[in-house]
Amino acid sequence: AKAAGRDRLQVFDQAIGQRAQHRALVTRELADAIARQELDLDYQPVFDARTGHATGAEVLLRWHHPRLGTLAPGAFIALAEESGLITSIGTWVLRQACHEAASWPASQRVAVNLSVRQLHDPHLIDEVRQILIDSGLPPHRLELEVTESALAEEQTALMQLSALKTLGVLLALDDFGTGYSSLSYLQRFRFDRLKIDQSFVRPLRQPDAVEQLALVRAVIELARALRLRCTAEGIEDDTQAAALRALGCDELQGFQLGRPMSATAWRQCISASTPD
Ligand code: C2E
Ligand code: CA
Ligand code: CA
Ligand code: CA
Repeated sequence: AKAAGRDRLQVFDQAIGQRAQHRALVTRELADAIARQELDLDYQPVFDARTGHATGAEVLLRWHHPRLGTLAPGAFIALAEESGLITSIGTWVLRQACHEAASWPASQRVAVNLSVRQLHDPHLIDEVRQILIDSGLPPHRLELEVTESALAEEQTALMQLSALKTLGVLLALDDFGTGYSSLSYLQRFRFDRLKIDQSFVRPLRQPDAVEQLALVRAVIELARALRLRCTAEGIEDDTQAAALRALGCDELQGFQLGRPMSATAWRQCISASTPD
């Protein structure tokens, strides 16, 4: 029995070893991904719930790896965070996104996800300022999305976010409701927007999801009380879209309304659909 236990442990060790090796490999490759021009941005449209017009797009990072294929951020963002590569990748994303968005009609915002580590980077503010100058994008057309986990180190987060606000950019609290933050955060941080997480939107597929509806209604009312705009993400069907419109949610995002797409495809969509 002892030997069998040892074997199992060995298999276990090997599995961990392989996983560690795979992570090391991906991290090494990621370090060269920018220079090799393997990184790319998709744009997912966001719509005004009342008018149905597009208000902008959220930028979603993709990695076209020559052997592993196209990787979604779930497969590498955590590694980028741990290795510190997220700083240079994040700067690249911001720069690309702002230069791209500068060519859109003035009615269109661009939303960029900021990782925890980026938010705590002392160079972030100067970088954002410089990127706005270089791209010519008016600051109010850039929205930065952070998650509750980025707020845990409260003092630094407060300083960084208020410095960003002075640049004139908009701030969104992403994945709202999934973190462990207390609601008092909402008052202390000056967010412009709450993004209601997909996990709250998913149950609204059932038209009789009474309790789930009540929960989302409460979040929307909370946002309104604090003068925050709110966006619901992960909308996959008409029932969800109708429910969120009825609850007075400001903006909608999801596969049903628009999938993430290339910059070129998004430009064509805007020119076909905006009144601007
Ligand atoms: P997120 O910020 O919550 O982004 C929304 C995610 O939901 C995206 O996944 C998007 O493709 C997906 N999505 C949108 N609509 C629907 C829908 O109707 N149904 C379903 N099931 N999913 C939907 P993606 O592109 O895989 O990104 C995952 C996460 O990776 C993002 O979650 C964000 O946290 C992070 N991420 C993406 N791009 C960046 C980036 O440039 N920098 C950083 N730091 N993180 C990023
Ligand atoms: Ca986001
Ligand atoms: Ca989100
Ligand atoms: Ca998410």
